[in-house]
Amino acid sequence: MRVLILAPVGRDADLLSQTLEPMGVESAIVPGIDTLVKEVALGAGASIIADEAITPRHVHELTLWLATQPPWSDPPFIILTPGGQTKLYSHERAQRFSTMGNFTLIERPMRPEIIQSAVRAALRGRMKQYEVRSQQEDLLRANSDLEQFAHSASHDLKEPLRNIRIFNELLRKEYGHTLDERATGFLDMVGSSALRMENLLADLLAYTQASSIPDERPDLTNARDALEAALGNLNAAVLEAHAEIIVGDLPAVRMRESHLQQLFQNLVGNALKYRRDSCPPRISIASSRSGEFWLNCVADNGIGIAPEHKEKIFGIFQRLHTSAQYSGTGMGLAICQRIVERYRGRIWVESEPGRGSRFLFTIPA
Ligand code: ADP
Repeated sequence: MRVLILAPVGRDADLLSQTLEPMGVESAIVPGIDTLVKEVALGAGASIIADEAITPRHVHELTLWLATQPPWSDPPFIILTPGGQTKLYSHERAQRFSTMGNFTLIERPMRPEIIQSAVRAALRGRMKQYEVRSQQEDLLRANSDLEQFAHSASHDLKEPLRNIRIFNELLRKEYGHTLDERATGFLDMVGSSALRMENLLADLLAYTQASSIPDERPDLTNARDALEAALGNLNAAVLEAHAEIIVGDLPAVRMRESHLQQLFQNLVGNALKYRRDSCPPRISIASSRSGEFWLNCVADNGIGIAPEHKEKIFGIFQRLHTSAQYSGTGMGLAICQRIVERYRGRIWVESEPGRGSRFLFTIPA
């Protein structure tokens, strides 16, 4: 946590250095703004700059450099202004530095206790920023380890599982005639369990691939095209359920088309699956502008969801029904949530049992 000092008058620089010494703070005097930027980049707790050492061009260069800093980093600057100036003059000066973000102005003549207190505050702030960085790094590492684990597990388990299914079918084909009804029933169980596990693994893989790390700036996707592609894949289920699909306004959004399609496919697929026996499904899909977001809605007239389950259903492998009641892996909504969060949006449900559900998600406009 060094403090860098940029002051063209040697005496000022030495004085500052001496002021920091009793605090046990290490200081380094730098000859110019270029060195200062390099040293801040290498790591510094704070920088003290004499106003006369920094021209508007320097401020501009520093501002450009600061824009390249990661979100956790906001290096503090303490600027020593010339003393005895009019209020208007100081105001203009302050305006000039405002693009540098985290800066404090101290008017000369320098008073050691004021310099020390400003340095102490700056160092404390910078220390907090380094803590945030280290926590972020830990989180990213843990997240990437988990993702890697889930990816390898789902990928590597596919092969042995396929073998179980193939040999199960071979056993049935070549030795089926020698087995009684009970034994064939067991083989059926092996086959359907292997198939279910294959579906679970495929969804787990889809979940890891819908990584929560955002793209730089995704291209515009026409939401209507994404919905049509999703409905194309659901065509058989739509026809089988005699579903009515109502499509409202849909905008162009900054999302990968495959992600938006997957969202619609999971939500409309669920609306078809969790329908009431008493009436055919009526599903409406629409989007409206809400401040800085597009608010998208997939609404159905299905079985609905009890209030105590409204959050739980977005968890990995969370289901409210058995496979015998409704097929599924419990991953669909978890994948939806991961995709939406990747775009810094939010997804939630409004519903009452027996009165349909409205799944809502936001995407930045
Ligand atoms: P899956 O459908 O494979 O079980 P999901 O993650 O898509 O997994 O959904 C989780 C649970 O949320 C479902 O098991 C179901 O109970 C409930 N659910 C999801 N969508 C709806 C809906 N449109 N209407 C009623 N319940 C729903």
